[in-house]
Amino acid sequence: TASYDIIIVGGGPIGLACALEAKQANLNYLILEKGCLVNSLYNYPQNMTFFSSSERLEIGDIPFVTTNPKPRRTEALEYYRRIQQKFELDTHLFEEVLDITKKDPAYFNVKTNKRNYTTKKVIIATGFYDIPMLLNIPGEELGKVRHYYNDPHYYSGQKVIVVGASNSSIDAALETFRKGAQVTLVIRSNEISPRVKYWVKPDIENRIAAGEIDVLYNSELTAVTETSVTIQTPTGILEIENDFVLALTGYRPNFDFLRKIGVDIPEQAPCIPCHNEQTMETNIKGLYLAGVVCGGLNTHLWFIENSRIHARQIIEHIQTMPI
Ligand code: FAD
Repeated sequence: TASYDIIIVGGGPIGLACALEAKQANLNYLILEKGCLVNSLYNYPQNMTFFSSSERLEIGDIPFVTTNPKPRRTEALEYYRRIQQKFELDTHLFEEVLDITKKDPAYFNVKTNKRNYTTKKVIIATGFYDIPMLLNIPGEELGKVRHYYNDPHYYSGQKVIVVGASNSSIDAALETFRKGAQVTLVIRSNEISPRVKYWVKPDIENRIAAGEIDVLYNSELTAVTETSVTIQTPTGILEIENDFVLALTGYRPNFDFLRKIGVDIPEQAPCIPCHNEQTMETNIKGLYLAGVVCGGLNTHLWFIENSRIHARQIIEHIQTMPI
């Protein structure tokens, strides 16, 4: 069984930031990533533009150069991949961590779909993009209901319902509209989210004002069939013809995995996993949380800019402890 000082679970931006810090501290580390490198970013919509400017996405003080005001997904993939290659960050891709146990007080046993490891410390940087928040309505299991949106061409000429009022939903509504979809936005509150990117907000507001994109505020989808959707609106129940539903209502961390490995998580929202905010150590000694997973259901609390610092906090704490 291979043995490490630190195993980092998750090869996202923050997992990579942790690896950079560990390498600098001469610690023997390994990243285990269940998908491709920066898997969440890879699975973002193909044409996505970040809301952060590029310097705010930087890790390890390495410049992220772009001539665009805000970087695109493809540029971020390029940036993080170049870092992983340049610094030869030890990364096993397509290797999912299934369980972590601590039988000996000094060691964790890490079990993946491929191998077993032992490690003195563990950093969980698993993000929140793997599990969509479900609508929990009849018909949600139909193939036409999607919780991830990739490319607009697919929806050309189709009647598309987009559920949600945040960046993901508004981007999808605008893109599919521009490729010839007939779009209706279904929004639970009475407005487009104030968090929508400031250069996108006027665009959606103008499309709505011009009647090019329909919107139903204070409304909720209640059922989906192969040919229609039912919507509860303030003026009553509406049934409209429909081909696809893009339910982009957010994502949440994998609480089952965290609980299985012994991390305490309160039952009530926002279900923030137990950790010390200074050291990032959880209720399990030697097991740390890093990145957006720390926010629990509060997925707007942490992003790259304010969570990349977790990497240094954790490695500094590890260095003060006997390894
Ligand atoms: P992630 O990038 O999600 O990385 C977690 C990794 O862990 C994933 O690659 C996953 O495959 C892996 N993993 C999970 N479970 C396991 C397991 N059991 N075993 C092995 N590997 C596992 N933030 C910003 O700062 N600026 C932005 O502009 C921005 N735009 C965003 C746009 C969208 C559409 C979304 C969804 C999020 C956006 N965010 C943005 C938030 C952003 O996702 C996070 O800030 C960033 O991805 C967090 O990095 P992370 O490393 O914590 O998590």
